[in-house]
Amino acid sequence: MLGVGVPRPFPRHVAGQASWAGLKSSFCALSWKPELGVLPSEGGEKKEARKVLSKGFFFGRNTMLLPACRVSRPACRCLYVLKSTRKHCLLPFSTVRWASTTVPRITTHYSIHPRDKDQRWEGVSMERFAEEADVVIVGAGPAGLAAAIRLKQLAQEHGKEIRVCLVEKASQIGAHTLSGACLEPRALEELFPDWKERGAPLHTPVTEDKFGILTEKSRIPVPILPGLPMVNHGNYIVRLGHFVSWLGEQAEALGVEIYPGYAAAEVLFNEDGSVKGIATNDVGIHKDGAPKATFERGLELHAKVTLFGEGCHGHLAKQLYNKYNLRENCQPQTYGIGLKELWLIDENKWKAGKVEHTVGWPLDRRTYGGSFLYHLNEGEPLVALGFVVGLDYQNPYLSPFKEFQRWKHHPSVQPTLEGGKRIAYGARALNEGGFQSIPKLTFPGGVLIGCSPGFMNVPKIKGTHTAMKSGMLASEAIFNQLTNENLQSKTIGLYVPEYEENLKKSWVWKELYSVRNIRPSCHSVLGLYGGMIYTGLFYWILRGKEPWTLKHPGTDAKQLKPAKDCTPIEYPKPDGKISFDLLSSVALSGTNHEHDQPPHLTLKDDRVPVNHNLAIYDGPEQRFCPAGVYEYVPVESGEGLRLQINAQNCVHCKTCDIKDPSQNINWVVPEGGGGPAYNGM
Ligand SMILES: Cc1cc2nc3c(=O)[nH]c(=O)nc-3n(C[C@H](O)[C@H](O)[C@H](O)COP(=O)(O)OP(=O)(O)OC[C@H]3O[C@@H](n4cnc5c(N)ncnc54)[C@H](O)[C@@H]3O)c2cc1C
Ligand code: SF4
Repeated sequence: MLGVGVPRPFPRHVAGQASWAGLKSSFCALSWKPELGVLPSEGGEKKEARKVLSKGFFFGRNTMLLPACRVSRPACRCLYVLKSTRKHCLLPFSTVRWASTTVPRITTHYSIHPRDKDQRWEGVSMERFAEEADVVIVGAGPAGLAAAIRLKQLAQEHGKEIRVCLVEKASQIGAHTLSGACLEPRALEELFPDWKERGAPLHTPVTEDKFGILTEKSRIPVPILPGLPMVNHGNYIVRLGHFVSWLGEQAEALGVEIYPGYAAAEVLFNEDGSVKGIATNDVGIHKDGAPKATFERGLELHAKVTLFGEGCHGHLAKQLYNKYNLRENCQPQTYGIGLKELWLIDENKWKAGKVEHTVGWPLDRRTYGGSFLYHLNEGEPLVALGFVVGLDYQNPYLSPFKEFQRWKHHPSVQPTLEGGKRIAYGARALNEGGFQSIPKLTFPGGVLIGCSPGFMNVPKIKGTHTAMKSGMLASEAIFNQLTNENLQSKTIGLYVPEYEENLKKSWVWKELYSVRNIRPSCHSVLGLYGGMIYTGLFYWILRGKEPWTLKHPGTDAKQLKPAKDCTPIEYPKPDGKISFDLLSSVALSGTNHEHDQPPHLTLKDDRVPVNHNLAIYDGPEQRFCPAGVYEYVPVESGEGLRLQINAQNCVHCKTCDIKDPSQNINWVVPEGGGGPAYNGM
């Protein structure tokens, strides 16, 4: 397992701790952190420091203005000690904490409230260390790791040296990975034809494949005809987090520099507008947005080309779409949310290699979604089960989490779980837009790979093989650019259009094209059943060769109907054996964030949740978030409600950023390492 123990790439940079901010003619400004700092403990120096401080006055929270003439040599010495010692707090510093007369903010993150306009940040050094690499990759998912491996393989084959750095926001590779997962090994076989000898954790070949339509009380079996996307023979059931961790080991062995616990927070640009690389997140910021004494600026990683493999709905990819207009010629991306649990079940009910999928109950026909239940062969009677709900659902009262809990009580599902023990829980959004929603993949200095642009084959519920292949194709084109002197880039950051051209000639493109109409065919009045009829008529016979391409109705955020037009949904209470409440579920995700940091769920406008989401949609974020992050609670004065964001609970599924009807929520990266701690999800 790769962990945070991996050496940090650069020396820790201590910035802004009680540094002299300038000695002007009449005043000098001392910047410091009152809550952590600190008077020197030694007698003489302590006295001198008190004397100096008593002659100055506070300006803002962190800056003390002192008449320059009073700053004697001993005072300088003691302030130097003040700067470097942070052991004892001898002053009632709470009295000098920053105070605001404005209405309390929900959002305190610097991406919404810039620090250069915040006096608490005056004098804090914002300098960043920079490192140069040939290629930087964001995200250690299947796409990012396959890309890194392919680059190093090519470098070895051609006797070239290239520096490849990969940053991952999880503290361990695979700890933020959540998938089904039934893996189609096609891309893996291309990447490592000897994957079996290398010990890839693919222990469970599929032995039995079932598909059914659920009504409330019964299950209608549907035959899986050869050639249909649901056929799983030849595939492997895996714990994708473990597979990704294994890919990480292969990448490291080839010389890829992997930095888990580092989230890419910002895209950097060259003067000519091309991508220059990324900056990792700053650390050491209080919940209220003020700097802590431990504040550390992020690190810059510069590269000739940066690959963005953040997975579904990447927050940097969102910025790149706007900057380079990458979505102008495609349809909006649409999504689903997948909720998943791992269970240890009674051995007699366990059948390693069995794969089951259902559609129908408890969802109505207008709501897209379904379930999976996979029996894993991992040395114990383990099953992975999950439920996906299309995020184009309309009723704001729907709770994907509660639908999942309810589904487990179906007469065809519950018996498998009875007597078993749930051991893990998590959730993650997945792309459902398919072929129509793929944006432009290349831009000066960078490319998009994997589920970030969205290569998910929706009817198959598979995106790992396509994500890996896209990373590999990107690397092949990039390697060619990096090493071919005849290929000149007009921009400082290399532009690699060959990646997109090659992807369009690959099996990924053919596969996604052939199933392009299946998901949008569910938008007819027949809903999901329309999609099934379409699949039988057009996919099975024509294999996607029909000369038309159906459209998606628009973004998922726009599909919600006002609460007044919908019926509230009565969900049964969890029984604590088969179904569970939200908080005990979130506890099983191992999610954790440094509590004292600005919430990474930022609001463009703090007034919108109450005035718009609550007023019109009855606060749907309370129900669509699978981790209980959003709560409307009574305001302290007792009148009305306010939104409370429990950011520590967030499992990084990105659903709120996708489904918020007012598109007011912007998910940004928290401090690196924060988030779920999945073990082989
Ligand atoms: C419920 C569910 C079931 C699925 N079932 C299957 C299945 O059975 N078979 C199948 O093939 N596929 C399945 N998929 C899809 C599959 O999981 C994805 O297609 C695949 O994981 C995509 O790989 P990726 O590398 O593009 O993205 P991801 O696997 O999402 O990896 C992205 C990585 O980037 C990291 N990251 C994101 N942002 C940053 C940042 N700013 N800085 C640093 N790191 C960052 C993330 O932490 C993550 O580790 C399923 C998905 C879900 C949600
Ligand atoms: S806050 Fe948003 S990203 Fe986090 S778990 Fe909830 S819906 Fe998912």
